[in-house]
Formats: sequence, structure tokens, C-alpha cells
Amino acid sequence: MPGTLYLVATPIGNLADITVRALDVLRSADLIACEDTRHTRKLLDHYQISTKLVSYHEHNEEARALELAKKLEDGSNVAVVSDAGTPGICDPGFKVVTRAIEAGANIIALPGACAFVLAAVSSGLGMDAIYFGGFLPARSGERRRRLAEVADIPATLIFYETPHRIAASLKDCEAALGNRKAAVARELTKLHEETRRGTLAELAAYFEENVPKGEFVVVIERASEDKALPTSEPGHFAARVSELEAEGLDRRAAMRKAAKEFGLQRAEAYRLLQSQKDL
Ligand code: SAM
Repeated sequence: MPGTLYLVATPIGNLADITVRALDVLRSADLIACEDTRHTRKLLDHYQISTKLVSYHEHNEEARALELAKKLEDGSNVAVVSDAGTPGICDPGFKVVTRAIEAGANIIALPGACAFVLAAVSSGLGMDAIYFGGFLPARSGERRRRLAEVADIPATLIFYETPHRIAASLKDCEAALGNRKAAVARELTKLHEETRRGTLAELAAYFEENVPKGEFVVVIERASEDKALPTSEPGHFAARVSELEAEGLDRRAAMRKAAKEFGLQRAEAYRLLQSQKDL
């Protein structure tokens, strides 16, 4: 009979944030697959767990997922952890789950720490629907395009971000989504944990002035009819074109650049500008 694949969440900053059940599973599994064996060994040593470890990370994910699936097929119970938080959430995990399903193994996910869930529930923004977008692209143009794609989703938007990109990223959020309310959670569960709330423009200005450290989650209010123009609104696109013209670009160049940022084809960009002229 195939074994069980356990997806075990580990702490994201405070070693005490692990459940009794997670510790039991880590202790009794035949094998623990983890991103960095030295990192996970520290957690296991803290709880006096001596289960065998094997590395499972982005560079060996595919091959290792097959090996783990074979072990599951042969009846072993395997626990998967990442360096922090829930495996599979912006961390390896997905491939071993798909291979384990193919191998007929039982898949059990254990509840535990996940940064975006903590940031979401403490943000003060609507929780009836949330969209988690992982990490935004590193480059500004791609980032704005990605944001334009999700701007109109009727849900609170959540992204992971790095300290060196947070200010630029918040600026792009404002440009692509409008000046919505937002919350930035930093260093959750750690000594310097804080959640800062304000508009996207206020938060961008704050993090530009106060060079940030640590790990970040950005939570952004959903689009609504009377706030934040959706990116498909002609007014919003035209405002960006005018902004670029004011920065010194001629109209054609401004339109090309804005169209790229908003992920629009040239014809669609012309149509939007034209429809604004006709208002
Ligand atoms: N698997 C993790 C989870 O369940 O949240 C996410 C891992 S991902 C590689 C790392 C990113 O998660 C960080 O760059 C940050 O955006 C977010 N993150 C992780 N721990 C955090 C913390 N303690 N406070 C704020 N954000 C955190």
C-alpha cells in the first residue's frame, strides 16, 4: 500500500510556531524532504527530532519528486517542509504533490504558518475574497503589466515582496491600480514585526524614506466603483500618458511606454485615448 505524503508548515520566524501534530509527523516520518538540510536540522535539533533528511529544492525538484514518489509507492511516509512557512507557497512542493498523486499516495497537508495568511487577516482590508499573486516581477514594466492583469479582480490583492524592491513596487502598484488603501506587513512573528497601513502612495513614500529591512507582504484593497480606477478605464491610461509627457516624452513615445506598462496592444491603446477624447 502506498505511503502518505505530509506537507508540513514550519515557523516563519518564531520557532514556537509549529503544531504538536507537525512535530509528531516529523518525528515519525520515514524521511523528511527539505530545501536546505542544515537549516531544517536546526529546527529538528531544537525539538530533538532525528529523522533522516534529504534535500528537495528548486534545482533538483523534478528528479527528487520522482524519487520521493517511488518511496511513497513502496510504502514509505514522507514529510515535506520548506525553509519557512507552508511548502508549495512560493516554495518547492508542487512537483512532489503531483508525482505523489500519480503514485497513488495519500496527501495530507498540516495547518501552520503562512506569511500571506497572517498579513491578510491583520490588514484590516476585506477578507470575503482574496487573491494571492506570489512575488511580483522584478522589473517595473513587467510588474505593471502583471498588476494591470489583476487590477479588476474583485478581491483583496496580496503579494510577497523583497526589501530592495518594496518602495518601487508600491509605486508601481499605485500607478497600475490607483491610490488604493493598503497594508504592508513586515517581519511577521519576529522581534521587529510591524504592519503599516495607509494609501499606496503614503506607503511608497514611507519605505522610500525609511530604507526597509526584512521580509514583506503587501495587501491591497480591492477595486471598487467609486475608488481606484480600473486599468481598463480610459482616464487612467490617459493620465499615465500625460504623466510621461510631462516627464519629457513626446506623445507617441509616451503612449508606447504606457501601453507596454498596461499590457495593451497599440490599437487598444489608441482606442482608449480616443474614447477619452470623445468624452
Ligand atoms: N512558504 C512561505 C510562506 O508560507 O509564507 C513563503 C516563502 S517565500 C520564499 C518568502 C517570502 O515570504 C518573503 O520574501 C516574504 O515576502 C514572505 N515572508 C516569509 N516570512 C515572512 C515574515 N516573517 N514576514 C513577512 N513576510 C514573510
